This record gives sequence, structure tokens and C-alpha cells, in this order.
Amino acid sequence: RVIVGTKVDQGHVNWVTAYNMLTGIRFTVSRTNAKMDRELTEADFDARHKFSFDITGNELTPSAKYDFKFKDYAPWVFRHLRSIFGLDPADYLMSLTSKYILSELGSPGKSGSFFYFSRDYKYIIKTIHHAEHKLLRKILREYYKHVIDNPDTLISQFYGLHRVKIPYGCKIHFVVMNNLFPPHRDIHQMFDLKGSTIGRDFPEEDLAKNPRATLKDLNWLRRNLHLELGPGKREAFLEQMKRDVSLLQRLHIMDYSMLVGIHDLEKGNEENVRENMLKVFQPGGERKEGDMTNMLTRTPSRMENALKAKQLRLTLKKEKPVPMGMVQAKMPDEMADERKDRIFYSDDGGFQATHDNGQPGEVIYYLGIIDCLTHYGFVKHLEHFWKGLSNPKNQISPVPPHEYGERFINFITGITMTEEEAERKKASGSEH
Ligand code: ATP
Ligand code: CA
Ligand code: CA
Repeated sequence: RVIVGTKVDQGHVNWVTAYNMLTGIRFTVSRTNAKMDRELTEADFDARHKFSFDITGNELTPSAKYDFKFKDYAPWVFRHLRSIFGLDPADYLMSLTSKYILSELGSPGKSGSFFYFSRDYKYIIKTIHHAEHKLLRKILREYYKHVIDNPDTLISQFYGLHRVKIPYGCKIHFVVMNNLFPPHRDIHQMFDLKGSTIGRDFPEEDLAKNPRATLKDLNWLRRNLHLELGPGKREAFLEQMKRDVSLLQRLHIMDYSMLVGIHDLEKGNEENVRENMLKVFQPGGERKEGDMTNMLTRTPSRMENALKAKQLRLTLKKEKPVPMGMVQAKMPDEMADERKDRIFYSDDGGFQATHDNGQPGEVIYYLGIIDCLTHYGFVKHLEHFWKGLSNPKNQISPVPPHEYGERFINFITGITMTEEEAERKKASGSEH
């Protein structure tokens, strides 16, 4: 199926940056992979290597299209992490270095980060703030240990940390991580949940314009939804979530969310076939020879809708819209094997709902804890102060990390129960 995004091609404002990112990744990842595997040492966690690329090339680096500098952080640690997460080294390089480059989702959050998808949509490159890069380096040992002890962790899987700098340009740090959502499934509803209510509402009236926007806590509550997992799966999920949150609390991290994507098996992937047909002929859309038949059975994705929303915002702001292009991606029929033995990604890349009687449910959940690189000390004190002036203190989002985690656990535990169950639990709890 086709996933539409802003194709980053020559002429796109971020073409050079995207090109340099991929060139740097290709070079550094192959360089590390070419060596014999070995055990990690303490020094591997602090390692960083700087490379200069230029159009002529030198004894260390091959020639590149542009002059730029590239920094590779802890390459051995990330090589091991990729292997623990079950990535195939050749596959990883292929996904990130094909000639179709990347598609850009622009900046969906308010942080200003840019998101790029690899051509097969398996990986996400997220540009991160200097402070986030500092934090990831600082917590890398703990993160690594956590992944070893918790192979089913719900926390974002980090596959690489790098920095790129063009002459006279600024330094851009970025991480490569897993895309929680599968390329071959439509996500019919998506929620970004923090367990806070202040400011956690996507205006319902805007849903008509953007039916698959990322919804938030209040939208979830308003819909009376719950994660229907049955007792066994629920326990596994809550247990892992608590272990993950406990790590984040210990590291003074906050502001993370549980990203929940819901694929409705009854709706399947076909609901927008007609709309999609029109897209094939959309001006500016790029089509590859011979791909027509496939395109007609494919559906637009949430990425596309997110992009549309961005287009809309830009139009509203009377800014120049980002040119819309199509990115042709090769879609695997099934999620690659690498995720099959991870419990929360084992049902076609996700975690299938289960009824209380043990029968499989009608939806697949895609679940993960994202945006886990904000340290409490970073700007949060300030925000705490400003928001604290107008909102009840326990409701505001930037509470200290321990409370943030407790509130998060409570909320996520709550949404695994039906209203009845929650009431019952509350009643039995207050008896004691
Ligand atoms: P802010 O700090 O304002 O929340 P941000 O720029 O740090 O924003 P994130 O919160 O990391 O961005 O992500 C923004 C959105 O991008 C998420 O709500 C989700 O829709 C999408 N997204 C982020 N990470 C992933 C991922 N690993 N897989 C799939 N989608 C993701
Ligand atoms: Ca976020
Ligand atoms: Ca963020």
C-alpha cells in the first residue's frame, strides 16, 4: 500500500540534511558491522567518533555529494541493541539507505522535532534537542541494562544516535528508533496518553477535517474506551509498563506518553480505497511504472493524515505549504520476523485484544512508551511555575517525575478496565 508523505527529494529544504544523515548512517553502521563482534566495554558507552565527509573523499571517508561532518555515538552499544531487538544488519542498512530516501512528517509535536520515516516505514528518525541527546548518552548504560533485563520493554527502541553538521549550519542530533505502527496495517484510531487531563484534548470538532488525528486523554475518556486484554495479557502488559515507568522515574524522566494505535480487524485496510484511487492521480504525486494495480488496493495511512493536518495548519497560518509528494514504499506482507517473539508485537506487529472468555478480540493494539528523553530539570521547572499559576497543581502535566510516573501508571491501569471493573476495584479498595 502507498503511504503518502512529503518526499524529501532534491529541492526539498531538508534534502541535504536528510541525504547527509543517511550517508553518515550508512558509513558508520557498515564500519562497525564490518568488525568481528565482541563484548561491550565501559568505554563503548562514552565513545564518539567524528567523520568529515567531502566531495573528494579521503583516506577515512568515501566521497560524498556534500561537505558535512558526522558524529557517531556509542556505535558498539547500538550495534548490540539492534541485535538484541532482533534487527537484521543488512536489512537495517537497506531500509535507511535506499535511493528513495525518506519521507518527512515535519514536526507533529510542539517540541520542533522533525520526524522522517525510512522508505519501508519500519524506522523513524527523530531530530532531538541537544538536552535530549545529552540525556540519552547519560542514561545509555541504564537503558541498555533495562533492555537486557526486559526484552519486552515498551519503551522506544533506540537503534542509533548521531549528529550531523553542514558547513556554517547548526548541529543536528537525531535518533533512529522503531516505528510502533506497522506499514501494512491501517491504524484506525490513535491516542497519545499521559494520564493528565489539562490540555489533553484534541478538539472533537476538528476530527471531521482530520479523522485520524492523534487523540489524547480526554478524547479517550469521552469515548469510554478500554484496552480489552483479558486477565493474562493485561497482567503482562501492566507488569511491563510498571517496570518501564519505574526506570523512567529513577532517571528523572517525564513527559513521556503511551502511544496507542488501534487497528480494527473488521474494517481492515479497505475502507478508503476510492479516496485512494484519486490520490494516485493527484498532481505532484510520484508514481513508479507498473505500480498502478497495487496502488488501487492500498489505503492512506495515519502518516498521510498527519501530513494533511500539517498542510492545513500551514495553510491556516498562511505559510507556504510543504509540497506534497508520494513516496512509494515496498511493504512487507507481514511484519518481519524480528518482532514476532516480542509479546507486545507478536500479533501481526501488535498485541491483539482478548475477551475475558479468552476469545480473540476484533482489534489489534499497537502500544509503546514514546518521547522518553525529557529530563525533569530541563525547562520543566519553568513550565511548572507558569502552568501552576492557573491550574490545579495535581492536574498540570509537568509534575515531578515520581508523581508523573504514578499518575501515568494509574491512568494506564485504569484504561485496561471496563467502567464496571474500575468501579468494583474502587469500591473494594475503599473498604480496606
Ligand atoms: P512533544 O514534545 O511536543 O510532545 P515531540 O516532538 O517530542 O513532541 P513525540 O511526542 O515524540 O514528539 O511524537 C509526536 C507524535 O509522533 C506522536 O504523538 C506520534 O503520533 C508520533 N510518533 C512518535 N514516536 C513514534 C513512534 N515510535 N512510532 C510511531 N509514531 C510515533
Ligand atoms: Ca510527546
Ligand atoms: Ca518531546
